[in-house]
Amino acid sequence: MPTELSPREILAKLVSFPSVSSTTNLPLIDWVQEYLEGWGAECVRILSPDGTKANLYVHCGPKVEGGVVLSGHTDVVPVDGQPWTDDPWELTERDGRFYGRGTADMKGFDALAIAAVPLAIKAGVKRPLQLALSYDEEVGCTGCVSMVEAMARDLPRAAAVIVGEPSSMRVVTGHKGSRSIDTKIIGVPVHSSRQHLGVSAVHEAGRILNWLNETNDALMSAKPTETAALFDPPFTTVSVGVIHGGEANNITAGECTFKLGYRVVPDENVDDWGARYREVVDQVERRMKAVGPAARIELSHSFTVPPLVPEADGAAEELARGLTGDNSVNVVSYGTEAGHFQANGYSTVVCGPGDIAQAHTPDEFIEISQFEAGWDFMQRLVTRLSQ
Ligand SMILES: [Zn+2]
Repeated sequence: MPTELSPREILAKLVSFPSVSSTTNLPLIDWVQEYLEGWGAECVRILSPDGTKANLYVHCGPKVEGGVVLSGHTDVVPVDGQPWTDDPWELTERDGRFYGRGTADMKGFDALAIAAVPLAIKAGVKRPLQLALSYDEEVGCTGCVSMVEAMARDLPRAAAVIVGEPSSMRVVTGHKGSRSIDTKIIGVPVHSSRQHLGVSAVHEAGRILNWLNETNDALMSAKPTETAALFDPPFTTVSVGVIHGGEANNITAGECTFKLGYRVVPDENVDDWGARYREVVDQVERRMKAVGPAARIELSHSFTVPPLVPEADGAAEELARGLTGDNSVNVVSYGTEAGHFQANGYSTVVCGPGDIAQAHTPDEFIEISQFEAGWDFMQRLVTRLSQ
């Protein structure tokens, strides 16, 4: 048996790996796998297509159904250009808080989940404790997809999944789905004195943005459904955050690119919205081709995060409410990996220590009292799995 590390020691170790989404997380995964295999847990690694990153899922306890999955991502957002008081890659305790990149989002939860494994093994749990540690959550929850599918296929089915994104230990039962689509408009450049003979990619992008504005206005003024009414805002939104196009003021633009993103309330379908966008794009493209046959619009799918739909009498909700005592109704407007678990048939909620307000910020921290509340949660969970 290895030396048992405290949750705090594990957190300090995890923070010391600068596992920004754009870089490898393998040193972190190596360390976690070695530690947990030392305790006798079964670990399975699922590599990214290019082999530079990995998911790690962990099983401990008997090979029976009815266990619990603790899900966390190992990647963090960059610190570039942010004013940090201390080294972001070193855990610093100050004023009742642990500072460091990822302390809130979400290495704090990861550390508690990892620390719960030796606890579960020593307790001889009757139902399994499983961990799901992913990569590339911060760039569209794309890394976990292969792991969630493998767990659903290869492991005894867990009764509940707890995704430990920072929720101040409140039980979150729903979030919006999202999709990001890269749009590239290719026009026909001519001198702007003859613009009727060309196709301006920028002007055509304007038609799509016009549709976007009208759609948002209509969605905002519609009466929300019961589920949608839980959200702020209580409707689906469409946005374009960045747009690039054009070469010079006297040339009709040859190219215009933008990223379009949806945030979809759970009772609407992300795929339906994707299809609706396709129709709009096809319409605009037909007009363009009537002027210049070479003009076109290329769409590439960037990512989809399924929504987390509030479950009626969900096992995960019941478990998390029992362990935390929280009975408040909570939904959030950002996506998490919970949608992927639920889409694979798992009863799922989001519940984790720390405040989402500190996520991605300089001087990110987790209140030590939250970290301790998270540890209480883990201890109660292990007791529950041992009964
Ligand atoms: Zn997160």
